[in-house]
Amino acid sequence: MNKYKCLILLSMFLIIFSISKSYAIINNYTLLGKTIYIDPGHGGIDSGTTYKKIYEKDINLLLSKKLEKELTALGAKVYLTRETDKDLALTTNGRKRSDLINRAYLINKTKPDMYISIHLNYLSDIRYKGLQIFYNNKNKENKQIAESLTEYMREKTSNVREPKYNNTYYMYRNITSPGVLIEVGFLSNPDDRYRLTHEDYQNKLISNLTYTIEKYFKEKR
Ligand SMILES: [Zn+2]
Repeated sequence: MNKYKCLILLSMFLIIFSISKSYAIINNYTLLGKTIYIDPGHGGIDSGTTYKKIYEKDINLLLSKKLEKELTALGAKVYLTRETDKDLALTTNGRKRSDLINRAYLINKTKPDMYISIHLNYLSDIRYKGLQIFYNNKNKENKQIAESLTEYMREKTSNVREPKYNNTYYMYRNITSPGVLIEVGFLSNPDDRYRLTHEDYQNKLISNLTYTIEKYFKEKR
């Protein structure tokens, strides 16, 4: 083989190698082109549900940031309604309503492919535990999202409750984009409370949730 042929072969090899390598990188970005809005519930003077010094608002934010990191790593464009310990109210009068109006406004303005609102549940009967997904009928995709995410979540996690229709939250009635509210566990239940306040479970929960969101978009195609 002469020098010239050898050079051609070598450059062909390099081209093929770099194409396959960049293809592999693109292929890992399974959520490329998807916009996801994460809404950590409550914030600021609104702690949400509490147990001693454990505040729902803090766990919601912590989990939301972990989820943001995971989804971003898969190529999704991710937004958060809040990134610090604050509410989104513009008025002190009717503060809660103003907070919820603003969250809905932000999400509607961005028109994401999906919104995920993160909350914790609480019941006086401490036996209730597990994750539960709530949806309304504002967007026709919501029911399917709730059912699919529940199904995929169950592949990896125990204690995933049946999805539930709920049209009572003001905010969610006003979000036109598809999405759901996830109560990731009960702060009132000792098992859930222990898990939700420990990093190994938080990480597992978020990695399972990322898997379910990824699978939802994959199956939807
Ligand atoms: Zn809440």
